[in-house]
Amino acid sequence: MRTSNWILTAALLVSVSAAAQQPTESQPSAQPLPPDTTQATQSVGSAQQAPATAQPTAVPLPPPTVAAPTTMDQVVSLFIEREHGLIKMLSNRTPVVETYLQNLSADPQLGPIPSEDHYFLGRLDMGESVDRKDYLKEEEKSMQQRLMGGFQKLYKVQYQPMGFSWMVYADRTDFDRDHYDFHYVRREFLGDVRCLVFDVLPKPKSGRGRFLGRVWVEDQGFNIVRLNGTYSPAPRNSYFFHMDSWRLNLIPGYWVPSFIYSEEGDFAAGAKNKLAFKAQTRIWGYDLKKGSKDDELTQIRVDSVTDETPTTQDASPLQAERVWQQQAEDNVVERLTEAGLLAPEGDVDHILQTVVNNLEVTNNIDLPRPVRTRVLLTSPLETFSVGNTIVISRGLIDVLPDEASLAAVLSHELAHIVLGHNLGSKYAFNDRMLFNDDSTYQNLGFKHIPEEETAADKKAVDLLKNSPYAQKLDNVGLFLKALQARAVNLNALLTTHLGNPLAEAGTVSRLSALSTQGPALDNNKLDQIAALPLGGRIKINPWDDKAEMVKTAPVAITSARDKMPFEVTPFFPRLSRYGAGAAQPAAPTTAANSAPSQGSN
Ligand SMILES: [Zn+2]
Repeated sequence: MRTSNWILTAALLVSVSAAAQQPTESQPSAQPLPPDTTQATQSVGSAQQAPATAQPTAVPLPPPTVAAPTTMDQVVSLFIEREHGLIKMLSNRTPVVETYLQNLSADPQLGPIPSEDHYFLGRLDMGESVDRKDYLKEEEKSMQQRLMGGFQKLYKVQYQPMGFSWMVYADRTDFDRDHYDFHYVRREFLGDVRCLVFDVLPKPKSGRGRFLGRVWVEDQGFNIVRLNGTYSPAPRNSYFFHMDSWRLNLIPGYWVPSFIYSEEGDFAAGAKNKLAFKAQTRIWGYDLKKGSKDDELTQIRVDSVTDETPTTQDASPLQAERVWQQQAEDNVVERLTEAGLLAPEGDVDHILQTVVNNLEVTNNIDLPRPVRTRVLLTSPLETFSVGNTIVISRGLIDVLPDEASLAAVLSHELAHIVLGHNLGSKYAFNDRMLFNDDSTYQNLGFKHIPEEETAADKKAVDLLKNSPYAQKLDNVGLFLKALQARAVNLNALLTTHLGNPLAEAGTVSRLSALSTQGPALDNNKLDQIAALPLGGRIKINPWDDKAEMVKTAPVAITSARDKMPFEVTPFFPRLSRYGAGAAQPAAPTTAANSAPSQGSN
């Protein structure tokens, strides 16, 4: 686990050698799909330093409504004021922040493709001054050391995770007219929201690391909803990444930082800059409730504590064992939800449970308790099960091409449950739930021994061959081939934190009996979609962590480069106002799926 310098150091700033003789070493993620619903049966994304501060549970009061401005100058004053209001409102929050980064190399056929990847997960203390100004005031040498977080090799490219979070705000301390010039550009719709667009330029001599770029300001509350640009000027031998930062109107009156996309790289002939990557930063868990148990005590609900087991009989030893396992399961699910790693039960689970049910019914599986499913909120591709709960990561749902592939990854965990491979019973002891959120991955784990993995894979294939998905297993084979093709380059995406990995040392091991099934992988076949980019299937509400399926219209693929399997793409959430329609958060979709006119860069 890293220490707090992880939070203090700026991750945005990259030191680049003038000579750049050493190999680039860096740290870097991607987009998904809904299950296809054409089946005959029912159809239907390393934890570090987490500040342990208690989080408020109440939704903040919306700011008072303001008189409609009549000049652009008044608009500028309003959004500056609202920006400071947002910083203050969020100052006691510690949301989860995840950055997934893919370094890129040029492929003649596919264009820039991931060559290696890096993953960061942590908690962002919104009250902590991730404050460029502080270190920039220092002497340059020590400043650079601090920015580099103690890394000795200043001539390598080092990504520091918190840097990707800088752009939650344009300027945390000095976003005002003394430090910036604001120029109105035009009006523009982002999704359903009409915005006023302003270019923001730091005043001469206003200091290093000032925001330089463009902001979009919605025209009712005058909150900034999007920032796009970089920071300037950068210290010598260093520069700041470019970023596109989006906010969502998740609570009345506030637009909350949710998605940040970063990209660098020039693949034009003769380009000198060798640094090339794409990175997605997602922020969620703003409303994680610590101490909600206390709230529960103050409003006692008798019905919620009723013992529902039949009282006329004593528990048999087997029943006792099952109740014990269920306690463990409930403990784990509750703890992971509290830590901001599991979505609360919701609509996506209904889809997942339908797929599991299809497998169960056709295989005559009758379990003493129904199988439940939950969505792990993180990007790395993983599944695991605890008791009768199957957990699947957002990132994995995202990249699966169809319902049969979803059934395949769920069937492996269902097989563990059917075979009685229960690992979780030690978590029925409540002391094992008493740990800090940031050490969740050190305290929980659901990795099976190799023999159980082999047995589960074998059983899973049996289940699939006897299911409504039996005729679609070619697609599963294609997915596994696509995963194999990228496995060596996506080590971070394939590194699991709680369950067994799908691939180890660059080789896909999961469901290997199906890996030869189906046609050969062929990038030139535009109708062959073996795996999807990250981010296209599941959207998470960053305030309450609820997961929903993304609704996107199909977009025609016109070249092999459009496929982008397992890749990171820009965010283009469809912005909407709080409470508008049934919609809660806007969906992060791929740039290909929606195309609002883009700001200058
Ligand atoms: Zn397994």
